[in-house]
Amino acid sequence: MNSVEFAVVATEGWFNGERHRAEPATFRIKNGKVDSITSGNYGTVLAAQGIRVHQGAFLMPGLVDAHVHLFLDGGPTDGPTRSAHMKKSVEELTEAARISARQSLSWGVTLVRDAGDKHGINHVVRSEAVDATLGMSRVRSGGSGIKRAKRYGAFMAKDVDDNDSIRRSVTDLSLINDEIKIILTGIIDFDAGAVTDEPQFTLAEAELIVATAKACGRKTFSHCSGEKGLSIASRAGVGSIEHGFFMNRETLSIMRDKQVAWTPTFCPVHFQWDKPEAVGWSDTTIGHLRRILDSHAEHLRLAHEMGVTLLLGTDAGSMGVEHGKAMMAEIRRYVEAGLPLTSALQAATASNRHHFDLPALLAVGAPFEAALYAGDPFMSLDHLVKPQQVWLGSPA
Ligand SMILES: [Zn+2]
Repeated sequence: MNSVEFAVVATEGWFNGERHRAEPATFRIKNGKVDSITSGNYGTVLAAQGIRVHQGAFLMPGLVDAHVHLFLDGGPTDGPTRSAHMKKSVEELTEAARISARQSLSWGVTLVRDAGDKHGINHVVRSEAVDATLGMSRVRSGGSGIKRAKRYGAFMAKDVDDNDSIRRSVTDLSLINDEIKIILTGIIDFDAGAVTDEPQFTLAEAELIVATAKACGRKTFSHCSGEKGLSIASRAGVGSIEHGFFMNRETLSIMRDKQVAWTPTFCPVHFQWDKPEAVGWSDTTIGHLRRILDSHAEHLRLAHEMGVTLLLGTDAGSMGVEHGKAMMAEIRRYVEAGLPLTSALQAATASNRHHFDLPALLAVGAPFEAALYAGDPFMSLDHLVKPQQVWLGSPA
């Protein structure tokens, strides 16, 4: 796992972020960038000349997880362990975040967007991860988000009050955050099978947040589920809607027209459906979870058909959602929903990078941020496992 001065990678097939090529290719890397891509696998020939060649079955851009919480550990699924984690010192939580970033990279995730922590641990790991020798995925940091006092989101956001405090907070956060996270709604009440609380901000307030962030050169992303919140987030023109459970066609068409992207994060809800014993859900609630997931899949398919930009993200750090590994599960959810694998992988690579204003494709001149696999996922999704090797490219 390194940023390389010179390397040769020979592969039987590859994906550039948008298109699958079921044909061999040889990549030359210089100073962390793709210097040339030659059709054909010249690995054996070059190795015979004494050149070290990385041989694999499939090469693709490093995965990008658009929604994680590095300081949370998705591994433990029992309540007491998760509660004890939240009470750890900032030093301990920072170490947990470093472990998350290393774990992500080992699964081929070269960049994560951290969706918020109140301590700003995501900023610390962002600066440390620039050093490729530390073996961490790079971090786009949402710092601390903003929320309404006494409402959901205290672990990841600071309170704002009137319009003046909204302007002040967003302006201050824009100095250090890569994006401004808006906690617009609470979470799903699974027993009720609905989002039961009112949105934390009005449309006018959400528009003020978006406009202030924009004036400061920052995009916004909004934690949002439920019809009322989705209507506000889409009309306010946030950069992306996170989770977006209880989506509907009208919101999707506004999103398409206003270029609002969607990060559906199936993983945390799918885990609760798959392992209901972790929380002790009743049969009725398990039924709600299945219905919510099916409707989410249907709207993902609709969003894809309508041309809404999809950003693949997992909400890693949530219960049962493990950093890095969860990307494989989220990709499977897209495919199960009926999207072509090409579209799922595009959402996990080029679309995320494009949304974050980074070079989107694995192409000549682009940073060599890539992962090499032993098998081709277009032959079988079972090949979506840990890659043989990961390269971080040159820092942005
Ligand atoms: Zn989250």
